[in-house]
Amino acid sequence: MSNCLFCRIVAGEIPAKLAYQDESVIAFYDINPQAPLHVLIIPRKHIATINDLQPADAELVGKLYLAAQKIAGDAGYADEGYRVVMNCGEDAGQSVFHIHLHLLAGRHLSWPPG
Ligand code: 5GP
Ligand code: ZN
Repeated sequence: MSNCLFCRIVAGEIPAKLAYQDESVIAFYDINPQAPLHVLIIPRKHIATINDLQPADAELVGKLYLAAQKIAGDAGYADEGYRVVMNCGEDAGQSVFHIHLHLLAGRHLSWPPG
């Protein structure tokens, strides 16, 4: 997916400040942070939206959450709390069509979201 922004970050063609990486997942700091900690956690594999997930991707999605747990814990937010959210489609505000978890922490996050 050469025209996908996040695939280009995975490929190293666009720089990003990495927070975590392993064989199947990378995480990097959001360019426009909405909280003191705002990290995007993505699969190296291109998957456009939640609607495109297949049963075989179940373990990969679990790895995204385990990465979020590790990044939040390493940053000291395990007890205070944090939010992990994945937008799907335009009404939810998805603007990059390569699935990504937003990890947000470091301030009170209101609910429901806008
Ligand atoms: P979405 O709106 O799709 O849920 O989230 C996309 C996120 O990607 C936004 O929070 C936006 O700030 C972030 N983003 C867009 N372009 C870049 C980029 O080039 N680098 C980084 N690090 N984040 C980006
Ligand atoms: Zn992609």
